[in-house]
Amino acid sequence: MYPTKAYAAQAASQHLAPFQITRRDIGPHDLLIDILYCGICHTDVHQVRNEWAGSHYPMVPGHEIVGTVVEVGPQVKRFKKADKAGVGCFTDSCRQCRDCKEGLEQYCHNVTWTYNTLEKDGVTPTFGGYSTRIVVDENYALRIPANLPLANVAPLLCAGITTYSPLRHWNAGPGKKVAVLGLGGLGHMAVKIAHAMGAEVSVISHSAKKEEDAKRLGADNFYATSEAGTLEKLACSFDLILNAVSVELDMNLYLNLLDRDGAMVILGIPSKPFIVPPFSLPSARRSLAGSLIGGIRETQDMLDFCGKHGISSDIEVVPIQKVNEAYDRLVKGDVKYRFVIDLASLK
Ligand SMILES: [Zn+2]
Ligand SMILES: [Zn+2]
Repeated sequence: MYPTKAYAAQAASQHLAPFQITRRDIGPHDLLIDILYCGICHTDVHQVRNEWAGSHYPMVPGHEIVGTVVEVGPQVKRFKKADKAGVGCFTDSCRQCRDCKEGLEQYCHNVTWTYNTLEKDGVTPTFGGYSTRIVVDENYALRIPANLPLANVAPLLCAGITTYSPLRHWNAGPGKKVAVLGLGGLGHMAVKIAHAMGAEVSVISHSAKKEEDAKRLGADNFYATSEAGTLEKLACSFDLILNAVSVELDMNLYLNLLDRDGAMVILGIPSKPFIVPPFSLPSARRSLAGSLIGGIRETQDMLDFCGKHGISSDIEVVPIQKVNEAYDRLVKGDVKYRFVIDLASLK
């Protein structure tokens, strides 16, 4: 067993603070990873604060993990000591069901999330990447492209795959018009990836103040909804809308932006139900859909794609001692575009 330094929340109302956890002994197929960086995902904040209910404490969040392999089990084939490796939102799954067999482990009913669930033994809580090391089966670890800066890669493990998977599924590419709602952690990755896939990318944001940044990230067009009439003028303009905002939207206005057969894909989770006006979907055979991260195979595809196109996340690196402050700033949207914890600060 490996005693491991971590940061944990002891209750929904409490700040994250130093905590000691124990990682399991490595099994035949396991890697021991020395964690170098872990991104701060908005999900971490929701889970720590029990905003989606179902949180278990103590909780060590973090599912955008990159590090160095320091031990390997005797049967490990794909990694060796000193390799870089990544761990995303889940660390195991049933491996038997249709979802697992099709490489869509994220939809498996018995998926083991990286934190806030139980290991396969049904007793040991899973603890995430706000810690100095983690043990993971090599089949659930990702290879990291050598040309990308490691700290900037961490957010690809959640924000990157969350946007890449729907862009692939709904065939973003040349000739397709993609709109991104919300230019935050998810939105900025959506813009970079959709642009690299060859789609025409538009960012729709409240005010014009993000225009310069959106263009720098790869957007072809920028529309500010604070200007009266913007959305009306864009009616039937897009094949795909990635909705990465977590506030309520006037769905009638936004669904009307879709061209015939277009789809709006929900990535952000608002706290209230959507109100979908009945005519907005059938009038142009539109779809309102959702998408959840991606399986291991597709996450590896995404990393390789990002390596090939030189894509990583725009980040602000923080020591773990500043994590609570980072949460408050993240909630206010005060980060460009992802906080990443440097775990050297915990060693
Ligand atoms: Zn996440
Ligand atoms: Zn399964």
